[in-house]
Amino acid sequence: MIEYENLRKANAPFYAEYKEAFSRILEKGWFVLGDEVARFEEEFARYCGVKYCVGVANGLDALVLSLKSLNLLAGGEVLVPSNTYIATILSIVQAGLIPVPVEPDIRTYNIDPTLIEEKITKKTCAIMVVHLYGKACTMGPILDICDRHQLRLVEDCAQAHGALYKGQKVGSFGDLGAFSFYPTKNLGCLGDGGAVTTNNEEYANTVRILRNYGSKEKYHNEMIGYNSRLDELQAAFLRVKLNHLEEINTYKRKLAALYRENIGREYILPIEEDGYYDVYHIFNVRCSRRNELKQYLLKNDIKTDIHYPVSPNKQPALRGIMDEACPISEEIHNTILSLPISFYHTEDDILRVCSVLNKFS
Ligand SMILES: *Cc1c(COP(=O)(O)O)cnc(C)c1O
Repeated sequence: MIEYENLRKANAPFYAEYKEAFSRILEKGWFVLGDEVARFEEEFARYCGVKYCVGVANGLDALVLSLKSLNLLAGGEVLVPSNTYIATILSIVQAGLIPVPVEPDIRTYNIDPTLIEEKITKKTCAIMVVHLYGKACTMGPILDICDRHQLRLVEDCAQAHGALYKGQKVGSFGDLGAFSFYPTKNLGCLGDGGAVTTNNEEYANTVRILRNYGSKEKYHNEMIGYNSRLDELQAAFLRVKLNHLEEINTYKRKLAALYRENIGREYILPIEEDGYYDVYHIFNVRCSRRNELKQYLLKNDIKTDIHYPVSPNKQPALRGIMDEACPISEEIHNTILSLPISFYHTEDDILRVCSVLNKFS
């Protein structure tokens, strides 16, 4: 059986380093927001090429606190790709703002820059881009639009740690970048974790205050805050993993290249273009008989996944909030299938998936 993901196996190469980190924290006896968090924040800020990084409890909180730090007027509209993971949209709603969908480019699966301006109204205050599946958005035109219309920009980088657009890391383009370290992500911890990146000192300070009950000084509360702190243990594990992130991304790119070379023409593959360095959090193919294909692969001992089966505008939770028709998004959700591409999969695993795929009829 080729599994879609196996976190025990994917983390096995780092066991010795994790155990050392665990002992170190146990001996220190300090477990929430401390030296390890501060050092991880410095290291991850340097990695992303930004001045500040603030660790938080998870990716959703990273998005919510990013929006909160911008101090936008309640009821303002935030443009968001219609095919993103639900968390992006939930963060907008939870920040008291209104999500407005923009359809993706069906070639890149990322927000289509040519469809953004027609969605801008007097109430639009921000754009939240999502670097979906590990591919950076086309940031040039998006930054131009933000400039022209005076819009704030937040990047959802939960699937794209280390991805580049024209040589620049995601998380460094917008006012803020939000990362998730959920265990399956390219930079995953051993539990929940997240972070915000920014070059703006004021935003960084606000997120720092918001994550810890709205206080800078213990028992003195300046804002209505949250409890969204990063654990020392998770920060220590993340420091281990960050040292291997380039290796992980390079390996996933190698597996993606192998898929590209060996999958037949009947499938639509993720596009690869000059100026983009994709990190393949997910490698997917599109096929009109997706559900049949998934069953066929399973019968041949290959597990796959779907990211995602339901377009956000079709989710009951978003009825009346963001439910306008999104035909491009719906087409993607109906035809897309994610193939195994974990750090532990071998080249032989990938070749076997290709050979089975190519016999589907
Ligand atoms: C994983 C993910 C999130 C949320 O991260 P959590 O750590 O699970 O809260 C947000 N946006 C996208 C695109 C994601 O893939």
